[in-house]
Amino acid sequence: MSATEFGIIRRYFTRQRSRREEVLIGIGDDAAVLRVPVGHDLVVCMDTLVAGVHFPAATPPAAIGHKALAVNLSDLAAMGAEPLAATLALTLPENDPEWLEEFSRGLLTLADHYDLQLIGGDTTRGPLTVTLQAHGLVPPGQALRRQGARSGDRIYVTGTLGDAGLALCLQEAAAPWLRQRLEYPEPRIEAGMRLRKNASAAIDISDGLLADLGHLLEADCLGATLSLESLPRSDAFLSALQGLDAGKQDLHHELPLTSGDDYELCFTVPPDRCSAVARELAGLPCGCTVVGEVTRQPGIRCLRKDGSAYQPATSGYRHFG
Ligand SMILES: [Mg+2]
Repeated sequence: MSATEFGIIRRYFTRQRSRREEVLIGIGDDAAVLRVPVGHDLVVCMDTLVAGVHFPAATPPAAIGHKALAVNLSDLAAMGAEPLAATLALTLPENDPEWLEEFSRGLLTLADHYDLQLIGGDTTRGPLTVTLQAHGLVPPGQALRRQGARSGDRIYVTGTLGDAGLALCLQEAAAPWLRQRLEYPEPRIEAGMRLRKNASAAIDISDGLLADLGHLLEADCLGATLSLESLPRSDAFLSALQGLDAGKQDLHHELPLTSGDDYELCFTVPPDRCSAVARELAGLPCGCTVVGEVTRQPGIRCLRKDGSAYQPATSGYRHFG
């Protein structure tokens, strides 16, 4: 690796406000050194974004930087963790200072917002690919898991579903707010932390509600019924669909069920904890909605208002489909 490439991380990624006391050695050495505070578990996750696969090649660099960190923070949120630090592996087709300036701004703005410190990284030359490894903290034994749901638990989601999927469908015609949802997802960190004691299981929705809820249920060989009417849809989503022709009206159900990239949380709550969850999450801008119930019978059944079953055309994003 050339000196220029080696210097990229130091040059563009050290301009951060956040300085965590847990970080003893950050960017600039052979490795970072962290001190995990006494009375905490360390939560670690990693996610990769590939140009043309996880984001359109024309996505603004600041949005790529934001999203690369946001998808990792979303995984931390699903575990109930508080963000701490991250490392970055960046593969770039060329050393483009303007691109790096914007990309690092998008990434570091979000990092500062959650008081997460970038503690190191690596750059290589090749097709644009961004990998981040994020580290977070939880009180001992309190990390949320996909496992743990029980029959009768209520199924919740944060925020609204289908916005990012609709933005992808509509491309340039998407309203700015929908595009914002696709390019600048907001990880539900605060919601995840408030769910530690009351959710029985949790996952973030990266590949679509059916796919990700499916992973959660599979962990305990359970199933679910979902109420289509209950799926939270944003005003921007509803008004954009009104403008489409009748042939596209299936998107009303299809997108909230199967489109990815919303990065909301899906979690299960025992009936006697539901009021505690409502109390804990009240006041968060994203809010939360009950969308169904966990069942002993495996599989996910989507029910219309009249009780009839709805069969989605697809079941969510497949990484190796
Ligand atoms: Mg996830």
